[in-house]
Amino acid sequence: MSKKVWMILVVLLVAVAASACGEDAHDHDHENEGDLYEASFVEAQAAKADGNIGRLGSVAPDRKPFGKQVALTFDDGPHTTRTPRVLDTLKAHGIKATFFINGNRVNDDTRPILKRIIEEGHILANHSYNHPNFRSGENMSERNACSRSDERRTERLRQEECQIETTHNIIAELTEPVYFRFPYGNNTDSANNHLDKLGLRSTGWHVDSGDWCFSNSNGGNGNVGDCPRSSITSNTEHQKSMVAHTMAGIDKHQGGIVLFHDIHEYTVTQVPVLIEKLIESGYTFTNIDNVELFPILNGITPAFIGDVCADDETCNYTGGFCEIYPASLDSMDLAGFCTEKCEGFCPDAGGKAGTFCTSFDGGLTGQCVSRSDEVNNFCQNIPGTKAQERDRFIGTDNPRPSTVEVCVPAFLD
Ligand SMILES: [Zn+2]
Repeated sequence: MSKKVWMILVVLLVAVAASACGEDAHDHDHENEGDLYEASFVEAQAAKADGNIGRLGSVAPDRKPFGKQVALTFDDGPHTTRTPRVLDTLKAHGIKATFFINGNRVNDDTRPILKRIIEEGHILANHSYNHPNFRSGENMSERNACSRSDERRTERLRQEECQIETTHNIIAELTEPVYFRFPYGNNTDSANNHLDKLGLRSTGWHVDSGDWCFSNSNGGNGNVGDCPRSSITSNTEHQKSMVAHTMAGIDKHQGGIVLFHDIHEYTVTQVPVLIEKLIESGYTFTNIDNVELFPILNGITPAFIGDVCADDETCNYTGGFCEIYPASLDSMDLAGFCTEKCEGFCPDAGGKAGTFCTSFDGGLTGQCVSRSDEVNNFCQNIPGTKAQERDRFIGTDNPRPSTVEVCVPAFLD
């Protein structure tokens, strides 16, 4: 926003503020009632709140344009004979991929495959011990080292930790473990926290090949290459061809992280066909540790609402822009923080101060600001702002009115 516009706004706001001064103090204590509602809103808006989406299990956190670059990933191995054939295919094309393994498949026969994966420059990653559903608890304790405990709630947490750690330790003997993928993409908060503790990064995928369905061993109608599930494919052509189905997904995203399972014979025979097709169509291959392509997955925290910025470019990831304002009334310096337009609520992100939707233009439009919070040292970490009580901007949404202390440009006082 230009300085001139700001000066006009200041005049307007002084008038608005003066007229609002007669109101009674608002009830702050009830603000927490809105937390649950806000939390569900945040989940619905997860695609916007990039800071959170890596934690949803099935979702890959980055949504940059992928520039026709594809990262192939293979889950559920190692398989004694099929994984080596996938490795042969990758080697023939000079492609590096990622193998998310299940610890219970690692034995004297398959351990050399893990070594080969690493030696040939691929990434060896964690897909739990025996592929449980972390959300439902199914298979969480089945015949493995994670099954015994006394107290039920503790037991589930311990099982989650054991599912992650058992495979973590297997990988750690061979290479530094970095990545984790939840079976079925089904995560839990407690498991996410444990991944954080171990320094593991969770990722889903951008494109699901549906190979398990196209393979006759799983989910199909008995005909290899057919996937009758309408949930997997949207048209008849693609129900008859995993390659066509996967190409359609890759074309839609113009690349990204693609999910396969190296335990299916069908996958082993079709991946080479897909690779040829991708090359013909001008795609190139990368891996999930490509920091430029997948920055969030690789630990680069994107700017979020309330983060300091000097230009809109910085605030790319929030879908927002940089709010620029005078750093103080008696200086020509400018300051800025990332924001975005809102009505009612704003998305939150892990590790950042909570957000709040308020208006800077006397109630015409709303935009997101940080709440005054320990995380931002009660606004002191956002230059040129100070903690002020502001009303929620409701717009056409219908949350209840609320007033909280948020970080807004100091001169709006
Ligand atoms: Zn799996």
